Order: sequence, then structure tokens, then C-alpha cells
Amino acid sequence: MSKFKQQWLGEVSDYAHISLSLLIYSTALTLFLLPYKVTTGGIAGISSLIYFSTGFEVQNSYLIINIGLLVLAIKILGWRFSLKTIYGVLILTVYLWVWQRLIEYLTGAPISELQLIGDEPFMAVVIGGLLEGLSLGICFSHNGSTGGTDIIAAVINKYKDISLGQILMTCDVIIISSSFLVFRQDEGSLGALTQMVFGYTALIISGITLDFVINRFRQAVQFMIFSRNYSRIASKLIDCGFGVTVLDGMGWYTQTERKVLVVLTRKRKAADVQRYIKQIDPYAFVSMANVQGVYGEGFDPMKAKIRQTRPTLVFATNNKHKLEEVKAIIGDKFEIRSLEEIGCRVDIPETTGTIEGNAMQKAQFIKQYYGFDCFADDTGLLCDALNGEPGVRSARYASVNGKDHDSQANMAKLLANLEGKDTRAAHFQTTIALIYKGKAISFDGIVNGTIATEKHGDMGFGYDPLFIPDGYDQTFAELDPAVKNTISHRARAVQKLCDFLNSETQPKGPKAETGAAKQN
Ligand code: IMP
Repeated sequence: MSKFKQQWLGEVSDYAHISLSLLIYSTALTLFLLPYKVTTGGIAGISSLIYFSTGFEVQNSYLIINIGLLVLAIKILGWRFSLKTIYGVLILTVYLWVWQRLIEYLTGAPISELQLIGDEPFMAVVIGGLLEGLSLGICFSHNGSTGGTDIIAAVINKYKDISLGQILMTCDVIIISSSFLVFRQDEGSLGALTQMVFGYTALIISGITLDFVINRFRQAVQFMIFSRNYSRIASKLIDCGFGVTVLDGMGWYTQTERKVLVVLTRKRKAADVQRYIKQIDPYAFVSMANVQGVYGEGFDPMKAKIRQTRPTLVFATNNKHKLEEVKAIIGDKFEIRSLEEIGCRVDIPETTGTIEGNAMQKAQFIKQYYGFDCFADDTGLLCDALNGEPGVRSARYASVNGKDHDSQANMAKLLANLEGKDTRAAHFQTTIALIYKGKAISFDGIVNGTIATEKHGDMGFGYDPLFIPDGYDQTFAELDPAVKNTISHRARAVQKLCDFLNSETQPKGPKAETGAAKQN
């Protein structure tokens, strides 16, 4: 089946399940909870309270409150609340309206007078809570929502680090507790207390059922498959959309190497996996275990929240010297990660032929393939007497195959090429290309100096033993690294980068908002 068709069928199935689940929800509300004056949580609970105290029909206040919340959410959160939430709100409104008209038509009385299971309010609480939990479970498992307090929770969650569950629970407690005030006038304190306890009981039953249903939908299993035909089984499973990992094992009795397949999948697909294995190798040795949770692509996102105090920026390098220099200059405002730390082990292309072009090419590569905001640098040593050589080729100046990185050979070649020239003036140029919040900006740092006639010092890297910065009589390889870090080409480019990042991370007051961002 094509991916598009699969996606389309998935959407149809989601909408069908949301429609069915909300039909069950409206049934719970109109047949069991409202007639027995049981207040549940959420906006349906608030609407029930309005209905109990004013007679204003539930679906009307439910729709009005939700429209207000949706507008607010779209303003604050953008269109994160998908069409499915809007669909959920609308269809539930329609169901509630239809149920009430139907009951009035059939019984000739409003729902408040309906006593479907006679004088058994507690039974109504149990049935209502079960149906509500079941319906919400199905709805949530198919990416649906009834809007309401989910929206409030998401808005609060944007500004405060409080879990959605905690916020929803607090909203529900407030709503159900206020039913006491609503019923106290008509039913007296004891009656109101009973109704409030019924509300909490329904909420608890609904919550337990909801968890049960969601866990059933989410339940996952882990297969370990031992078979001589492991490669055919693995290929078949991959073709059918499962993820497969092959582990190396050793059959201890036979002392032969064995391959073990590990497959994680939803429980409802477990029978398919068994069928595919059996088709290929009926004698395969297979274990299947329930797993508590599966997190990652195709499964659930990890629930643990990380308190991200600093934004992450990737520095597209694995050069430890550079990384240390740059971290020392940037300080701890950003979490700087190297290529290794983001798992990038490929050779990033540097093919533009210019220092500026190569820096931008590297930064764009990281953004495109790894998704991180990042910066990349490219540096060259440019000698006046050599028309800017080694320049963009500084790293591979002495390389014959265009690949080798040999600092000693590079320095030897440079000394040879400068012999007898009138000037030994040179400068290092670093260009840093930054991709940050959708912007692409470059910063240049330059340090002027001269090339010594022989190597001095053993600190630093690259051409450091040959480069004497203007104003000093020692090479970079002799100077204290702290001094180099303040005057170097990279330090200057990084300083400009920092100034820019500072201006970006500073809280924007009215003044800053009108000023243009500092750029180079
Ligand atoms: P890159 O673009 O930063 O890799 O720099 C290219 C080459 O320039 C390096 O392989 C070094 O040979 C040289 N280079 C860059 N920065 C420095 C420095 O701070 N001191 C000495 N050599 C450097």
C-alpha cells in the first residue's frame, strides 16, 4: 500500500473513532450524568453546572466556552490545536443537542427529569464514569480531543513548567468542588456534598478507565527471534513496515554464531509478526514479552521533561583546541556541542573555494541534516607575498592528494615558499557562519602579523609556531593560550558572534525592539 494511501486511511480511521467515541461521551453525559446531577471535570463539567443552575443547555455553553478557548489557544500557541480538536468540539456539540431533542421527543420531558435506571444515582455514576473514560480513551488514542481544559492546560504549560496532567487535575478539582456551591441552595449541605462526592467518584472511575483504554492501545511487545532464516525474516518484516535490529549471538551448546532479531511493535500487530515468521521458518525459536513502554520514532515520546536552561548551538567541528577556545570565549550562555556530540561522523563538504563559502556550506549542512542551530568556521592563513596563499587551502597546503592534514609539512612548504620574499606579512582570517532562528549571518575575524623564519614554541596547533601577531615578539605557539584567545582571528570572529547572540538573547525592551539587530 502506498504511503499516501496509508496516511489517508489512518486519518479516516482517526475521524471515525473520534466520532464514535464522542457519541459514547454524549450518551454518558445525557443519559447518566446530567439527569442524576453528577458533575464531571472539564468544560463539559462547567457547562453542566451552568445547566444545573440556569437551565441553559449544556451544548450551548460547551460550544461558547470552547470557541473562546480555541481563539485564545490559536493566538498563543498557533495552530497546534489541530482540526481534530475543532472537529471534536463541533461533533460533541451536535451529539449533545441531538440527544436532548431525542429525549424530549421520546419522553416529552427535559433530560433533567429522565431517570433511565430509576432511583439508582450511584449506578448512574458508575456507568457514566465508565462510558466517559472509555470514550475519552478511544478519542485520545486517535489523536482527538474534546478541547476544553486540554487547551487551558497547554496554554499554562507554555509558560509554567507544570505537567499537563497536574493542570487538568487542578481544573477538575475546582470544577467539581464548585458543584457543592451550586447544589447547596436546592439540596442543602448534605445533598450538595453527596452530589460532589458522586462527581469525584465519576471522575476517578473515568480516569482509571481512560488509563486502561489508552494503555491497551499503546501496549507494546518485544520479539526476540532466533532462526537460521533470520535474513529472510528480517527483510520480510522490514518490507511490512516493522523495525528490526540484528544482534550478534552465540549458541553456546553448538558453539556457533547466531543472529538474533529484535522487533518492537504494538501488541495489536503481534499476530502479524508471528504469521510472517511462521511463513518463513515454522521452527523458529521466538520469545514475545510485554514491555512497559517504547519510546522513540513510531512510538511514544519520552515523558521526562528536561529543564532546558541554555539553548543549544552546534559548533561544526571536532577540533578539541578550537572547541575549547570557542567555549572559553562564548561562556556558559549556550550549550555548545561538537559534531561528535550530535553523532555527526561524516566529512562535511567544503567545496566552494572560499573561506566564507566553506563556512556557510558547513553550517547549512548541519542545519539541513541534523536540524540544529549551529555555526561553522573556516580559517585561512593569507600571506601577502604569496597572493593570499595558503588561504582557503591552509589545512591541506602541502597535501599531494588534497586530503592530508599535516601541519609540519604545511609549515615546511610555507617556509620554503617565503624564502627570499621581500615581505613576510600575513594575516589569519576566520569566518564564522551562523544559522540561528532561521537567519544566516557571517562574522569575520582578522589578526595581522608576520611569518617567522623558523618554528618557535610548542603550544596551539596548525601554523602557530610560525605566526607572530603584530604587537608581540613571540609566536602564537609561545604565547600564553589566554593571550591568544583574546587576540586571535577566531577570538575576534567569536566575539562578534557573541555580541550578536547576546543581542538576540537579551530580553527585548521597548528600546531594543525598535533598534536593528547588530549584524556584520
Ligand atoms: P580551519 O578552517 O579552522 O580548519 O583552518 C584551516 C587551517 O588553518 C588549519 O588546519 C590550520 O592549519 C590553520 N589554522 C586555523 N586556525 C589556526 C590557528 O589558530 N593557529 C594556527 N593555525 C591555524
